[in-house]
Amino acid sequence: MPERMETESRKLLGRLRDAMASDVAGQARLDRITQIIADSMRAEVCSIYLFRDEDTLELCASEGLKKEAVHQTRMRLGEGLVGRVARRGDVINTPDAPSMKGFRYMPETGEEIYSSFLGIPIQRLGEKLGVLVVQSKDKRDYSADEVYALEVVAMVLAEMTELGAFVGEGAALKARHQQSVLIRGLSAQEGSAEGHVWLHDPRVVVTNPIADDPNKELERLNAAVEDLRVGVEKLLEMSASGDKEQQQVLETYRMFANSKGWMRRMEADIASGLSAEAAVEKEQSLARTRMEQAQDAYLRDRLSDLDDLSNRLLRILTGQGRDTGAVMPDNPILIARNIGPGELLDYGRKLRGIVLEDGSVGSHAAIVARALAIPLVVQATRITTEALNGDHIMVDGDQGVVHLRAEDTVAGAFREKIAMQAKALERYAELRDKPAETPCGKVIALHMNAGLMADLPSLASSGAEGVGLFRTELQFLVRNQMPRRTELASIYSRVLDAAQGRRVVFRTLDIGSDKVLPYMKAVNEPNPALGWRAIRVGLDKPGVLRMQVQALIRAAAGRPLTIMFPFVAQADEYHAARVEVEKAIQGEQKLGHPLPETLEIGAMLETPSLAFAPQTFFREVDFLSIGGNDLKQFFFAADRENELVRRRYDVLNVSFLTFLETIIQRCADAGTPLSFCGEDAGRPVEALCLAAIGFRALSMRPASIGPVKSLLRRSNLDEVRAVIEAARDRGDQSVRDAVMEWLRGQAQPQG
Ligand code: PEP
Ligand code: MG
Repeated sequence: MPERMETESRKLLGRLRDAMASDVAGQARLDRITQIIADSMRAEVCSIYLFRDEDTLELCASEGLKKEAVHQTRMRLGEGLVGRVARRGDVINTPDAPSMKGFRYMPETGEEIYSSFLGIPIQRLGEKLGVLVVQSKDKRDYSADEVYALEVVAMVLAEMTELGAFVGEGAALKARHQQSVLIRGLSAQEGSAEGHVWLHDPRVVVTNPIADDPNKELERLNAAVEDLRVGVEKLLEMSASGDKEQQQVLETYRMFANSKGWMRRMEADIASGLSAEAAVEKEQSLARTRMEQAQDAYLRDRLSDLDDLSNRLLRILTGQGRDTGAVMPDNPILIARNIGPGELLDYGRKLRGIVLEDGSVGSHAAIVARALAIPLVVQATRITTEALNGDHIMVDGDQGVVHLRAEDTVAGAFREKIAMQAKALERYAELRDKPAETPCGKVIALHMNAGLMADLPSLASSGAEGVGLFRTELQFLVRNQMPRRTELASIYSRVLDAAQGRRVVFRTLDIGSDKVLPYMKAVNEPNPALGWRAIRVGLDKPGVLRMQVQALIRAAAGRPLTIMFPFVAQADEYHAARVEVEKAIQGEQKLGHPLPETLEIGAMLETPSLAFAPQTFFREVDFLSIGGNDLKQFFFAADRENELVRRRYDVLNVSFLTFLETIIQRCADAGTPLSFCGEDAGRPVEALCLAAIGFRALSMRPASIGPVKSLLRRSNLDEVRAVIEAARDRGDQSVRDAVMEWLRGQAQPQG
């Protein structure tokens, strides 16, 4: 930008700052700002449109348009030129607006006489706040420098909106962060919670977007960037021998930290009157807009790296961010873009709920949240931009809905729901020591699924008979390096201590597919769910399997031991894995270590092929457990991680139930104990049907034991079986409707 323009721009910002500092109400401020901009740009019109709600823009102040249109003229996102600027997050600059595609003229504003139009999005870090418009009668083309100057102004307006500078008498809009917001995401762990926002990465608030002395700001920027570079170099040194992927990210950081283009843009922002932090934020906002629009995954990743780096730089410049000494509010509900399993475990049971802007149902964070039984909503778009530390928030993990700063009526209804759930919990607690015995005299063993030390207290509180599935990979996933044998032995030993003689089924490492160890070389597979995973990895790289089995034997130290292999697709995989265990037993015996009192070695039935293995397999395996999550995905050929298909097929589909019955029959013929340990075992109606077709052992999340037990204790399985048979005879696709109908006809829960 030429020096003259820079001086002009600084002058304009100086006048704006005086207007902001003046002691007048929000509306008067906005009016004053439009006057200043119109005057400085020598335009007849300057208007500010702000979002009234997510979808509607409102003319909030104008110099030049008819005054009566202010707070009356509204448009939807994408409507007219203003709506298009907001939707695309991009500038529209035209000398002849009425001839532009999409132009829509608002008669109440009197704008028909203006020809040229320059619209600039007001946005902050990807959050759309409004649109700044200048218009003139003459057919004028605004120069690149003028556009740039107005972008700087828009940036300052965004900061001011964020700080609530325009709230006050006369302003129709509430401040952005005072409105109630409903965000729909996906449910990743059920349960409801009410509490206050705790931001994992607090937003940096820039209170001084305009600066007087560009030289001082340049010095500040340079010093901060130098700090940043040194920091990145240190991280690179530390990770020199470690994970390749992490190094790649750091290399990208280094590239950006040394990028001349990035620096030049920020220097230009400062020269036109912005403070150092506002300049960083302006570039970060641009990157976020591009990130939203980028189709290419590689480019999106790079822009997200730049976003991270900008955050670091902002923290250096403002001294804000994590570790600010802020006190966690009561009933904290964690909000983050994403979070690693280790970080989540650090928070532990302190959290009442978790809401992630990205995240997925199958992510490691979700696994941990489930283990801790903390309601979790993922894919909650905009939550990190909408929520501020301390905001009131309600999380409905059942529906995947988040109410931020909810209105009283919504909050009331939500509290009723929580109260009902609490009552149900009390009822379940009363059942804790009672068996899951049906009125027709059948007893179903209810076990719990576990995987973290954090799960262990649930053994006593849930009334589980034992641990039907201990997912050992969680201990591997939450670490940054491969755990050592002694470490594992000590963990497994503590698990057995906590079980106090109850049976614990340790499943050997089930990695691959969606569970990738951060410290293991990633293999690039076209279809990981059908790829190198679970026992296939264990057999191809037996070192880890051996180490794990040794740790288990040492942990048992003379107590009973139960081991289960995941994802066995044919009998020889079970044989080979069993040989590894037998070798380990011999080795431990030679070393003089005590051997397990009893040893059971079972397999998970997770692929349809194993259901049709020779009968000899069913006889030789000590027990089988159906991994319904995987079995279902392969049976229906529907990826359990893919939102488009994962709910498409009902587990109560007659084909699947018939398939399960075949397995039950084959196990019964061979005298082999069988259980079901997929997620469906923890859903009461599904569990009831599984019991009705013959399962006598189910393993589920601890929180599901109460609801499942409660339903089983009041359901006659013979009747349910008859309902299932009738549905099958009728040709129903799923037995769900018939069973639900039968349930509706039953008496209400007695407790
Ligand atoms: C399953 O597949 O049902 C199972 C219990 O294992 P995971 O969910 O860990 O794959
Ligand atoms: Mg599985």
